[in-house]
Amino acid sequence: MNWDIDKLVEDALAGSRRSLSKCISLVENGGADAHAVRLVLDKLGQRKTAKRIGLTGPPGSGKSTLVNKLAEAFAKDGNRVGIIAVDPSSPYSGGAILGDRVRMDAPSETTDIFFRSMGNRGAAGGLSDACAGAADVLEACGYNPILIETVGVGQSEIEIVRHADVVIVVMVPGLGDEIQSIKAGILEIGDVFAVNKCDLPGADRTAHELRAVLSAPVVMVSAMNGEGIEELVKTISLLSQTARQKKLLKESELKMKTLKIDHVGIAVNSIEESLGFYEGMLGIKAEGVEEVAEQKVKVAFLPCGDSELELLESTSPDGPVARFIEKNGEGVQHIAIRVDDIEAALEELKEKGVRLIDETPRYGAGGASIAFVHPKSAGGVLLELCERK
Ligand code: ZN
Repeated sequence: MNWDIDKLVEDALAGSRRSLSKCISLVENGGADAHAVRLVLDKLGQRKTAKRIGLTGPPGSGKSTLVNKLAEAFAKDGNRVGIIAVDPSSPYSGGAILGDRVRMDAPSETTDIFFRSMGNRGAAGGLSDACAGAADVLEACGYNPILIETVGVGQSEIEIVRHADVVIVVMVPGLGDEIQSIKAGILEIGDVFAVNKCDLPGADRTAHELRAVLSAPVVMVSAMNGEGIEELVKTISLLSQTARQKKLLKESELKMKTLKIDHVGIAVNSIEESLGFYEGMLGIKAEGVEEVAEQKVKVAFLPCGDSELELLESTSPDGPVARFIEKNGEGVQHIAIRVDDIEAALEELKEKGVRLIDETPRYGAGGASIAFVHPKSAGGVLLELCERK
């Protein structure tokens, strides 16, 4: 079909709910239109910072009422809240229709809450991808958080929520005896457990049994009368902060997966004297001595497996190595980690609030680009980042 994608996305970004809905449908249906919408969003430099909160639980646990209450609570704090309700068994996607019935309790479509149901029709790349795409569109349009609710706890539903920043598993009293028999899958993916209908008899027991087998927080709520909702919102906020940190860590591990110790810098009074031990006794042959005028040192590298030892001798009493020896005596002065792209590494560390001595790389011995991280940020160690040509 011939949509003016640019115009459509522009209208959606400007607040048109109709255009937003259309954009989600295009993304959901996959193919060239979905790709085009994605391209426009990419151009906007989307940062994926909106909280994605997944809710799952057995049918009848009152999830949709709870989702509405949570959405209202988040909206009350001034957020625009997106809700995606996913039902793999339903052939329909679109408005407030879920399963084969109209969802009666869908929140009123205010400007603050956008509700969308999603069935298996069309979702060419699978419901999980369609759902993630819809969440991206919502985020681009300023929605945060995005609540993703599944109707049941089937395998595809678990797959859909497991990518959320925080997963809430909704339980109800009466399941107590069955906790052991509940699919292990949903117990594993839960970051927080909400015992809904907490005014019913047996609620305490259910919470108690959950706490006995889980390390995740268990919060008692009543979606009907609003009890516990505030506590649940607080718990979600805390958990999503932790989730974000973990995600950042995972991403940087990916970027820096080739990290290794490049060398260990040792401050010595005299390279020549020290070589008496390292060459004479240990039998490591030095690769020649180089002077790095900028840092007021002479440097000798001694290959040591995949890494090297770097002997540092000061060439001036006011150089950093001279000052180090004056304060600590001879010894390990810094540890250098090899990075593939020092500019990117510095940028990333700066963004994370790491204290840097050098914000831009400088010349190091052997033609390397180096920069130092402040010991205050590195557990008391002067840490050198080192990119080899
Ligand atoms: Zn070094």
